[in-house]
Amino acid sequence: MATYRELLDQIRSEIEEIDAREAQERLADGTPPVLVDVRERDEWAEGHIPSAFHIPRGSLESRIEQSAPDRTRPVIVYCASGNRSAFAAKTLEELGYESVASLTGGFTDWKRNGFGFELPRALDDTKRRRYSRHLLIPEVGEAGQLKLLDSRMLLIGAGGLGSPASLYLAAAGIGTLGIVDDDIVDETNLQRQIVHSTERLGESKAESAKRTIEALNPDVTVKIFQERLTSENVDRILGEGWDVIVDGADNFPTRYLLNDASVWHGIPVVHGSIFRFEGQTTVFKPKEGPCYRCLFPQPPPPELAPSCAEGGVLGVLPGIVGSLQANEALKLALGVGEPLVGRLLVFDALETQFTEIALRRDPECPVCGESPTITDYIDYLEFCASGRHHVAS
Ligand SMILES: [Zn+2]
Repeated sequence: MATYRELLDQIRSEIEEIDAREAQERLADGTPPVLVDVRERDEWAEGHIPSAFHIPRGSLESRIEQSAPDRTRPVIVYCASGNRSAFAAKTLEELGYESVASLTGGFTDWKRNGFGFELPRALDDTKRRRYSRHLLIPEVGEAGQLKLLDSRMLLIGAGGLGSPASLYLAAAGIGTLGIVDDDIVDETNLQRQIVHSTERLGESKAESAKRTIEALNPDVTVKIFQERLTSENVDRILGEGWDVIVDGADNFPTRYLLNDASVWHGIPVVHGSIFRFEGQTTVFKPKEGPCYRCLFPQPPPPELAPSCAEGGVLGVLPGIVGSLQANEALKLALGVGEPLVGRLLVFDALETQFTEIALRRDPECPVCGESPTITDYIDYLEFCASGRHHVAS
């Protein structure tokens, strides 16, 4: 029976071995070989040769065809020192690969020669556990979770819609959440604004939401803006670079202001609104679908637009609509599925019915149309002829 050393020597005599310089030359060629790193995940995470596929030795036989379907294309395999890759090279030859070379000296020698390597981004073990149910979904996976952790989302309002939206986005690992709210928590909010609590009465809503989110998920950086969105501050706030805005605003001046600003900043807005038993949500994606003004060039007369403070709202309704908004925001961040662009989803809580209404972009739209007539911020309070609709959401 052969010892490990004897077996290794025998394998090495049967395969082609190349040194780091030779490997580097072959990889720089116009039609480079397939490069396969057969080390374990933690070794890969500490750096690897650029352009390499990572297939741990134990998965080589089952996974090599995905990365190298053409058995006539040359393959270079490497590990840390050239031993595991020698066995891997032999295996690939047995699988029918016609030209396989093992990097002698492995990644260690590659680095010693001063050749370049990449440090891949990977989730650490704590994050792998926290987001394990995301990692199991092919449409999310590690790459998707890294995207979420890199994402920046701005919530307008930490009220009825902002509560569930912020909680689910925070739980999902959105790396940076901005919250714009100048209100304080009062007793009438707690029937639906679940990001707050009785002990936070009298506190700033933005501050209260930040504390809840940070307790839920320390991976999330929360940036709060304890101010009402206005023509004066909107460029500064939106200019901080957001991937998605989740609109939980409860009043028409803010809605129109946010619409115009988001069109000009090119940021998609996940819109939501609620009243009594009815909720609506859609996605306003600049250039790809209608904006709020395409649908409603003029605000409704104040007497036809009661707020929750005036008309009431079923407590769970913002929970449903805000969760739908979080779903749309996550899809936009991941680039998966069909977002509600050009589609208004209407939910009737009494009948438990969802209805979808197709929305069209208006070429005559004063903001996103072909010849816009509004190109700078207007007086939104005057435009909406009333400031009394921003009491609660
Ligand atoms: Zn428009």
